[in-house]
Order: sequence, then C-alpha cells, then structure tokens
Amino acid sequence: MGKPDPRHRNTGSSKKSTGTDTPPGECPQCWQHAHDRRAHRHLGPREDCPQCVDHMINGHPYLVPKKPSFWW
Ligand SMILES: [Zn+2]
Ligand SMILES: [Zn+2]
Repeated sequence: MGKPDPRHRNTGSSKKSTGTDTPPGECPQCWQHAHDRRAHRHLGPREDCPQCVDHMINGHPYLVPKKPSFWW
C-alpha cells in the first residue's frame, strides 16, 4: 500500500474551489459575508449587517442547489 496522501480531499466539486465558492445548500450572500471580511468592513464593530440580519430573520431567498449527481 502507498503512504497516506494528505492532499486527499472529497469535496465532490468538479470545478476548482477558490475558497469563496458557495458550497451546495448554502446561501451565497451569507457564505460570502462569513468568509469575506470585506463584506462587513463598512460596518462598525458592534454594527449588524442588515443583509445578514434579514436572512437570519426572514430566511435565505436563494440557496445554491445541491448537485444530484452525487446521489446517483
Ligand atoms: Zn443568507
Ligand atoms: Zn453580512
């Protein structure tokens, strides 16, 4: 057997991930805001992001669809 490959990843993604791509089932806006500090840099340290608050209260208007190919 070979030695374990630390690079082994099981993302199931066909296109390369830059780290900011929204994964399936996630809200693009919330994902971006959670991973991109620039999204909130105009806010104060104790200031809430109206967009994120809106999603938390009203839910997410759009979620990235999950790829069905994995389940085939
Ligand atoms: Zn959201
Ligand atoms: Zn936000």
